[in-house]
Amino acid sequence: MARLVMKFGGTSVGTIERIKNVARKVKREVEAGNEVAVVVSAMSGETNKLVDFCNQISPLHDQREYDAVVATGEQVTTGLLAMALHAEGVKARSWQGWQVPINTDGAHGKARIMSIDTTAMAADMAAGTVAVVAGFQGVGPNRRLSTLGRGGSDTSAVALAAALGARQCDIYTDVDGVYTADPRIVTAARKLDKITYEEMLELASLGAKVLQTRSVEMAMNHRVRVQVLSSLVDKPGTMVVDEEEIVEKQIVSGVTYSSDEAKITLLRVADRPGVAAAIFGPLAEAGVNVDMIIQNIAEDGRHTDLTFTIGRADYERALDVLTREKASIGFEKMLHDKNVVKVSVVGVGMRSHTGVARRMFQTLAEKNINIQAITTSEIKVSVLIGADYTELAVRSLHSAFDLDAA
Ligand code: ADP
Ligand code: ASP
Ligand code: MG
Repeated sequence: MARLVMKFGGTSVGTIERIKNVARKVKREVEAGNEVAVVVSAMSGETNKLVDFCNQISPLHDQREYDAVVATGEQVTTGLLAMALHAEGVKARSWQGWQVPINTDGAHGKARIMSIDTTAMAADMAAGTVAVVAGFQGVGPNRRLSTLGRGGSDTSAVALAAALGARQCDIYTDVDGVYTADPRIVTAARKLDKITYEEMLELASLGAKVLQTRSVEMAMNHRVRVQVLSSLVDKPGTMVVDEEEIVEKQIVSGVTYSSDEAKITLLRVADRPGVAAAIFGPLAEAGVNVDMIIQNIAEDGRHTDLTFTIGRADYERALDVLTREKASIGFEKMLHDKNVVKVSVVGVGMRSHTGVARRMFQTLAEKNINIQAITTSEIKVSVLIGADYTELAVRSLHSAFDLDAA
């Protein structure tokens, strides 16, 4: 029998009625002859509430205890969905991350899945029981609960699909597929029937939270067939596929933005070998990922100003580390700004077409939007701008690259 992984996000399990709706969808797949593993998120709003509790205790809380708190949201949904399946006459049981087990590394709050032992679960599924698995969580090296970072249930689902050798991983959500831009911001956005793994990877990592970045990485590495579709309407969604499967290639396939950015500038840092290591070493040790980096040499030739961006969740931690390391790094002043956003255009067509960056900068200039930092890769161009211009920038770029629906 074919194995199928179905994942339902927060909105899709946001009320008891919706959970019952999910149970009916799962039942249909079981009756169609599939061995089903369902991965669920916490009911919508629950994880935010739990994260907020942690921050109210202290923004610099112990990440291991954060995981103990935020992993609970998914536990509730597994039990409720298992009960809803029972009510539909379907055999089902709940599995928490540690029960499977889904083994992760010890990077609490953003752990990576290292291995999944599906022996017990697969045997249970083969005996006709639906596995209802808690997304977002696993168990770390010291047998402590771990979580996979916000949006991590997508990664749980794809990892499970890979481990089970499932024929497909269906990600059910509150939109009916992947669009050329966030349909909540750009009403003219178009649904894509297919998107390449690489483009989806860039879109996700640049802010399109419809799939968590690591889930796409994992799907690409293990060649898992992933479909993004709606849990509320019955129609095909978007398939994430290999580049060869796409006949008509756009230069730009999507525009995306990330508000999860913060900018830090260190003024008058001594311009000598080792200084970048002195700054980014302690940040890395504190688990802070640095993204864009800009360095300017001051007029005296002995000092440099250094600007970089980090995830907003790491903001307090980064400021704390840099303040403590001020003497050993040797900078004069630190400026910081959370009111920034990163806007990106993505497309595999950029490999063979020039002029994308120019068109992007020109479009933003016409709207009087100032660019604070730029990064590029083979298939994307990203700019950092003031957060107030987010919607204007995304919409203008969407039209400028001919993505608007007719
Ligand atoms: P879930 O709770 O099901 O995991 P998410 O909120 O994490 O759902 O992801 C779905 C949301 O992603 C949509 O509601 C949509 O606003 C947003 N989104 C951002 N960019 C895109 C895009 N390019 N295509 C589709 N949805 C997008
Ligand atoms: N509940 C978690 C979150 O809100 C994981 C997920 O929904 O994918 O981030
Ligand atoms: Mg999500």
